Amino acid sequence: MPDSGVLDTALIEASWPWIALAFGLVVGSFANVCIHRIPLRRSVVRPRSRCPRCDAPIRAWENVPVLSYLALGGRCRACRGPISPRYPLVEAANGAMYFALAWTMGPTPRAVVDMVFVTALLVLSLIDYDHQLLPNVITLPGIAMGLAASLLPGPPTPRDAALAAAAGYLALFAVAKAYQRTRGVEGLGQGDWKMTAMLGAFLGWQKLLLTVFAATLGGTLVGLALMAFGGRTSRHPLPLGTFLGFSGIAVVFVGQPVLDWYRGLLHG
Ligand SMILES: [Zn+2]
Repeated sequence: MPDSGVLDTALIEASWPWIALAFGLVVGSFANVCIHRIPLRRSVVRPRSRCPRCDAPIRAWENVPVLSYLALGGRCRACRGPISPRYPLVEAANGAMYFALAWTMGPTPRAVVDMVFVTALLVLSLIDYDHQLLPNVITLPGIAMGLAASLLPGPPTPRDAALAAAAGYLALFAVAKAYQRTRGVEGLGQGDWKMTAMLGAFLGWQKLLLTVFAATLGGTLVGLALMAFGGRTSRHPLPLGTFLGFSGIAVVFVGQPVLDWYRGLLHG
């Protein structure tokens, strides 16, 4: 007969990614509420959600992540108006990210920290996309949480996290001031400085540099594509926070292999 302690541990390890997936779907549903309400300065807890078109209250069975959207055929039960596919996409993406983190990192505190981090980045990315705004109620607790999490075992160290947060903030502050002086308009807002500090606190300086590099590259490529095909001019800047957020998420998952590959190039 197997030792029950060993069996319990094996059971927890095996079920952990699936628990994380379910939890990630539910948190993704809450993330949708945050994306919608935080910029409007409304409570994310009450009242319960309503259809933005007809104001019909959304019942519990209509609020099951992803499945309700599919069951309702992407339409409101009351007015038959279309529901944005972004809701189930955010839920599915958040669930998939939690599953992947749980699968690769096991049942560890660091995995939970990374889950909070990627959800915060997803919410910031989409709020910045919708409103060109990065709310303090996410970035400031985010900085504090990143610094606190650096006390856990594993990178980044508390020193690395604090230096990266401060350097990230100051670097974007300097770029913003220089841009304002030469162009006469504001290119980067204070939200961008704080979001960069948050990225630094969670990631440490090497992964922060990689994130800023990827965000700048992504922003430039998308901007050029829009100007070439969409008639968009450079006078309407794309929100940097959106690119920082998606780059930060990518770096959580593939940042370490990319840094290892780069170090290999340098040292032959
Ligand atoms: Zn409706």
